[in-house]
Amino acid sequence: MSSVGDGAQDAHRKPATAARMYDYYLGGIHNFPADREVANAVLERTPRLRTIARDNRAFLTRAVRYLTSVGVRQFLDIGSGIPTEGNVHEIAQAAVPDARVVYVDIDPDAVSESLDLLDGNEHATAIRANVREPQAILDHPQVRKLLDFDQPVAVLLVAVLHFVEDTDEVGDIVATFRSALATGSHLVIAHATIDELVFDQRLWQQTQREYRQQTTTPLTPRKKSDVARFFDGFELVEPGLVWLNQWRPDPDMVDEFMDKPEHSSFYVGVGRLP
Ligand code: SAM
Repeated sequence: MSSVGDGAQDAHRKPATAARMYDYYLGGIHNFPADREVANAVLERTPRLRTIARDNRAFLTRAVRYLTSVGVRQFLDIGSGIPTEGNVHEIAQAAVPDARVVYVDIDPDAVSESLDLLDGNEHATAIRANVREPQAILDHPQVRKLLDFDQPVAVLLVAVLHFVEDTDEVGDIVATFRSALATGSHLVIAHATIDELVFDQRLWQQTQREYRQQTTTPLTPRKKSDVARFFDGFELVEPGLVWLNQWRPDPDMVDEFMDKPEHSSFYVGVGRLP
């Protein structure tokens, strides 16, 4: 995998991106000084974001393992990010060697790093696209080549919808994916919230300002009822729409938020299309 480290020309002039900031929260090396500058400012106010990012990856792992266990063999991972530990194809193909995975991200670095990693893997690829254009994703030749929409597909929208503003009719975006899916398909969502505001209000507003000013993807946290609506038409599998670490926790899971699950500030859920 190639690195986008400090030495890259013009690195310091690049704007920060959500993908590279998230990579930094996770301890990755695929980020520029501009990303680290903004990420460090955010982390200084809300250090628990590192834990939230790690816990979010752990949820993704549990969700994909669950999906393979119920027979899902195809994954459309949108807002997939820069490859890191526990990528969807690694988890899915460990259980089902020919599981199909298409990664989608708006960030060109995330896509090129993914393509590097997937070199030689004929069942997985990555494309650059915008979740706000769901039909373009569904019609994309690579998506059509790898995924058979007459069979169950899992659409993963993990930590991405909160980068879509309300002006974009997020419900319509999710509905467009739903209408393309066969019975037995699944929808996985992880979404930021400030329902139980555990951050100081002013600090949170500063973080929102930072994402708005320094990246092209402002943050839009949503209420539980709004996230629940994205599952319209799906049946939520147990335990429903819950705080991040409450979704089918592993028995040996180390959970910093055990007694205060709302400190994850993330709702997660998995729905099945009947
Ligand atoms: N899904 C991965 C996970 O949960 O570990 C990565 C989540 S990361 C916080 C959010 C990702 O969404 C970033 O890689 C970012 O580039 C991508 N993203 C943001 N807005 C997007 C959009 N409109 N369309 C596609 N991807 C987007």
